[in-house]
Amino acid sequence: MKDFRAEKERLIDKYRRSGYAKDEKAFKAFMQVPREKFIPERLESSAYLDHPLPLMSTGQTISAPHMTIMILDYLELKPGLKILEIGAGSGYQAALIAAIVADNDAPGHVFSIEIVPELVDFARNNLLKANYSQAVTVIKGDGTLGYEDEAPYDRIIITAAGPIVPPPLIKQLRISGTLVMPLGRPGLWQQMTRFRKINETETVKESLSSVAFVPLRGKHGV
Ligand code: SAH
Repeated sequence: MKDFRAEKERLIDKYRRSGYAKDEKAFKAFMQVPREKFIPERLESSAYLDHPLPLMSTGQTISAPHMTIMILDYLELKPGLKILEIGAGSGYQAALIAAIVADNDAPGHVFSIEIVPELVDFARNNLLKANYSQAVTVIKGDGTLGYEDEAPYDRIIITAAGPIVPPPLIKQLRISGTLVMPLGRPGLWQQMTRFRKINETETVKESLSSVAFVPLRGKHGV
């Protein structure tokens, strides 16, 4: 099997120099998680090209490596946190997060919701192949409703673009926790935005960067 180490190191070098991400934990997670196991087999040789790749014929994509690393940075992760992801897709972003929050048997966990049934199976299989199925639970359903059973969450990440923050998600966020999402109409660009919950009724909003994501569907999506 091909060893992608050199290609990964080349990307990390680029990110360090460009300031894309500063969190060393994110670089370590990137080295650890095999992105090649989260894409259709015929695309394996493209695993470390820095652009998004299609997820089968679903019209969905796995984000470019630099975007997945920026998300880790934005989430300000540490071992032990409980995370909710909306949009499991391939399961790759969830595995990267798990590599940090559940590192060395830390009690952190990622719950990831996916609305497209064939991607639920795809993500679960990929996580199994890559050895992250203990630290990540993939749930089938509409992520804009959240996943009440495990709330509250320390961090929530939405990997699809929507015009508003789904209200159930703010409810399921722990006080002082953050929610990160591409905010805006899908189509061209959205603003990656971080909301910090300061009490039961207030959040503080911060714009992070311009991004382009696939649409967030569901009850509180587009
Ligand atoms: N994080 C993924 C990439 C996400 S692509 C990865 O690492 O591969 C966006 C995903 O969000 C798609 O799989 C899409 O089906 C899913 N999605 C869109 N709306 C959703 C919703 N309301 N609930 C759950 N998943 C949703």
